[in-house]
Parts: sequence; C-alpha cells; structure tokens
Amino acid sequence: MALTVLSLVIGRQVAIVEERGQGEILHSLARAVANAFSTGLYERLHEIELLAATQDARRMAQSTPASPPLLAQALVGSTRYAWIGVADVQGTVRAANNGLLVGSNVKERPWFRSGMERSAAGDVHEAKLLAALLPASPNNTPLRLLDFAAPIRDERGEVVGVLGAHIDWNWARDVITAVRSEANHERGVQVFVLDPAGRVLHGPQELRLAPTVHVSHLIDGRAERLTWSDGGKYLTAAVRVPARAAGADLGWHVVVRQPEDVALVAAHSARDGVLWAGALVAVGMALLGWLVLKRITQPLEAIAATARRIEQGELHTPMPLGDNLDEVREVGQALQRMTHKLVEANQTLEAKVAQRTAELERVNAELEHLATRDALTGLHNRRVCDERLWQEILSHRRLSTPLAVLLMDIDHFKRINDSLGHAEGDTVLQDVAQRLLQECRRTDFVGRYGGEEFLILLPNTDAGGAELVARNLLHAVAARPIGQAGLVTISAGLFVDAAAADPDDVLQGADAALYAAKHAGRNRITRFQDAGPFTERRSEE
Ligand code: GH3
Ligand code: MG
Ligand code: MG
Repeated sequence: MALTVLSLVIGRQVAIVEERGQGEILHSLARAVANAFSTGLYERLHEIELLAATQDARRMAQSTPASPPLLAQALVGSTRYAWIGVADVQGTVRAANNGLLVGSNVKERPWFRSGMERSAAGDVHEAKLLAALLPASPNNTPLRLLDFAAPIRDERGEVVGVLGAHIDWNWARDVITAVRSEANHERGVQVFVLDPAGRVLHGPQELRLAPTVHVSHLIDGRAERLTWSDGGKYLTAAVRVPARAAGADLGWHVVVRQPEDVALVAAHSARDGVLWAGALVAVGMALLGWLVLKRITQPLEAIAATARRIEQGELHTPMPLGDNLDEVREVGQALQRMTHKLVEANQTLEAKVAQRTAELERVNAELEHLATRDALTGLHNRRVCDERLWQEILSHRRLSTPLAVLLMDIDHFKRINDSLGHAEGDTVLQDVAQRLLQECRRTDFVGRYGGEEFLILLPNTDAGGAELVARNLLHAVAARPIGQAGLVTISAGLFVDAAAADPDDVLQGADAALYAAKHAGRNRITRFQDAGPFTERRSEE
C-alpha cells in the first residue's frame, strides 16, 4: 500500500520533471527562433543603412545617373529583397531592382515616411503597389512584405531621399525552418510570430491564444499548458524578440506550442514506468512476504501438529525439523528436547510408581498377614478364627450341610516351657501347627485360638468324618518326637453339626468337650454331643 502511494508520488514527480524538461525544450526553441529573427532584422536593417550611406545612394536620390556599379549589383541581382529602391524627398522612386515602381510615388507609404526620419524596420503588410508587379506565390497566398527603410543624407546631413527595401515575409518561414529541427516539426511543434497586439504574423492567421492569456504573461516564464482558440491544449512557451538596434525593435514575440498529449507523452510514459515498476515491486514484495510467511508458518504448523499428538500421548512422534529456517528449527529442537525429557520423566515416574506399588502391596500383604496371622506359627489368629467360625456356620446353615469344629490343646505344655525354656516351647508350637496344617485338607481351616490351643473347622464333614480327621491329627502330633521335647500329645474337643448352633455355644461346647478330654487322661478326642459322661478316644486307638 505504502509502496503504491510512494510510486504514485514518485510517478507524479517524474511526470512534473519531464513536463518541465519538455517546457524547457520548447522555451529554448522559442529563444533560438527569437534570436534568429533579431539577428535577421538587425542584419537587414544594417545592410539598408550601409547602402543608404553610400555615395551612390545619394546620387540616385538627387539625380538619375546611370546606376553605379556597387549599388546596382545589390539592387539588381538581389534575391534577398522583393523590392529595393531609392526614392527622392518627394517620394518619387528614382531607382529600383528590375526597375520596379521607378517613377511611382511612394510618399504615402509608411516605410517612406518613417525612412525620412530614421532607419527602421516596419510592419508586415500585404503588398499593395508591388502585388501586381511581382510573380504570384505558388499557393496563391497574398504576398506579404516586411519593410526596411533608411534616410539618405547629403554631405551636410540633410535628408535627400529614402532607401527602401521589402523582403518577402516568407523569410520568416525560412528563419524558423532553419532553427526548428525536423524532429520538432514531426512532434507537432509549431512556431508563431506575434506582433505586440497579439496578432499572428507568422503561423495560422486565425489562431489566437485564449483571450484571458496575453502573450506577455508567458515571456521569460516557464512553458505553460494553455488552451488555444482552436480548443486544443498546448504546452506553450514564448520569448520576446530581442532588439539589437532601436530601429529593429518591432516588439514581436516568438511563441512555440506543442499539443499537450504529445508534449507530455514522455512525462506520462515516465510516470507510467514508475507506476508499473512500483506495482511490480509491490507484487514482488507481496509474493516474497507470502513465501517467507509460508516458509515460517508451514513448519510451525507441522511442529504444532506434532506437539498436539505428543500431548495426546504419542510421545514418540518425531519432530519435523527438515530444512526449516534456523529459528523454526530451534523451536522444533527445543520441543523435541522437551519431549525427550517428558518421555524420560514419564518412564522414571512409571518405574517409581511400579516400585512403590510393589512396595505397598508387599507392605499391605504384610499388614494383612500381621492382622490375620499368628506371628509365631503363621496360622490364622484368634480374630480370624472367630470370623471364620461365624461365616462357616451361616453358610452351612444355609446349605444345610454338616460342619464340624475341633478345639485342640497341647497336653502339659507348661512342663515343656518350664523344663526346656520358652524358646523350645515356641518350637513345639510351630511344629505342632505345621503337622496340623499338613494333615488337614485345603478346604479345612486351622487357626491358633490361644496360647497352645488350636481351632479347626471342617466344612461339609459329618460326625464320622470329623472323628476320622481328629484321630489323624492326634496321630500326626504324637507320631514323632519334636526337638528336645520329644513326644508331644494333644487333646481335642469335637462339636459336630455346628451349623445348627450359635458360634458361642459351639465354642463353649467344644471347650467343654476338650476339658472332658483332658480330664479323661489327655491325648484323646471328646465329642460334645456325646458328652454326658464324656466319650473318650485315645489317639492310639
Ligand atoms: P494341660 O495338659 O492341662 O493343657 O496342661 P498344660 O500345661 O498344657 O496347660 P496350661 O494352661 O497350664 O499351660 C499352658 C502354658 O502354655 C502356659 C503358658 O505359659 C504356655 N504358653 C502359652 N502361650 C505360649 C507361647 O506362645 N509359647 C510358649 N513357649 N509357651 C506358651
Ligand atoms: Mg491350654
Ligand atoms: Mg495345654
């Protein structure tokens, strides 16, 4: 946008400079033509003055001798003058080229009158007396003449006649043609000569500057764009014809004009050139900007897309670094380093979490173990014994299946402690526990109910099955010696059909049966249901 404005401004300035340049060209042409006219007028006038000052001219004016050779030559052979001749003070033509008008009276002619006073050039005018005598011009235009005249004086300085000369006004065309180049002519450059009143002396007679513009406004100024009377617009320059001598100052102006569109074609093409160049540069810049932007945004978008995939968990998506700009690649590399750190941190975290979880599970298992197991024997503890008894009673009651409960107690355990020490007592406890566990089925429950008491639950086991199990257990304990303690026995209280009873009743019943077994001599099984007188069965049986 700024570039467009700039190129408009520059284009305008270039056009102005070009216009000024073309104006200068027209102005200098006008000056050259004006100088040529000035010189031409002066030379003609000076020539006439020189001829008027000759002895010959004086003689011609005072008498009519045979033409003296010098002047005769100038007069007769001259092609420069349409007419040149000498008139006496009465205005009678005494001599002339080709004898033209000799004997005629010219005292009313303006040139004669002014020639009686001083040497001067005169107005351009249509031929009057001579029109009939001179050959018609080829294009039948009326003959126009420019007058020069100089007084002829005798030795005392008295005016004795006038030397007059007329030159064909076509002279002006020759002067202009000599100065104006053919190129100017082709480019529509026209040269006018105007008199002080603004009338056209040379050039299309009917043409005038617009009435509001007087030629003097243009003098020595710059060329201007003016509307002429033909309605056209012209770049116009004017110069006053300089006066080389008082008599040669006719107050003429040389005006040069060129159609505006032709004159300013260079200016316009220069301006258009700048505009086009500006437009091209603007388009180029826009294209370049777009390319640069694309080169930055495309890789950034690719990096952003990758970042989103990483965010969604695809941590191993490679970062598109490619042949990106350094800055973009740095962003990508930084993101890649971040991603690697993230992956590492993630892996470390996962490992730590796994480790902690394992630790927690282990601790939990330990706690669970501590909470539910007896530390010495590894059997279920008292709390679990009570819970489990409840569960089994309820479940067996629901299914109407038989549940048997055994409460067992090591015989004379106090003695072992007392004689062999507490540690040996512990060993016996552990050994007995293992033997009980090994003897029972996997579905049976073995718990440490108290100091050296064990609770055994036998699911889906009727009285017969329970007695068989109990006997096997007594046998397992008593079969082999345990450490220093040697042979150890155990007694059992059996409660069958426990599902029908309350847990407390079951335990009390089993305990009562156990008490009965002890009372009966130990190392035996007593069934609560049968307890009345206690039924005793030795393990050996
Ligand atoms: P009975 O045949 O009548 O059962 O006689 P007993 O000596 O086995 O019975 P009592 O109840 O008099 O003795 C049990 C002993 O068991 C008392 C206690 O110090 C001991 N005891 C209880 N728990 C532990 C234990 O964890 N380790 C050891 N070493 N001894 C224990
Ligand atoms: Mg006991
Ligand atoms: Mg005991």
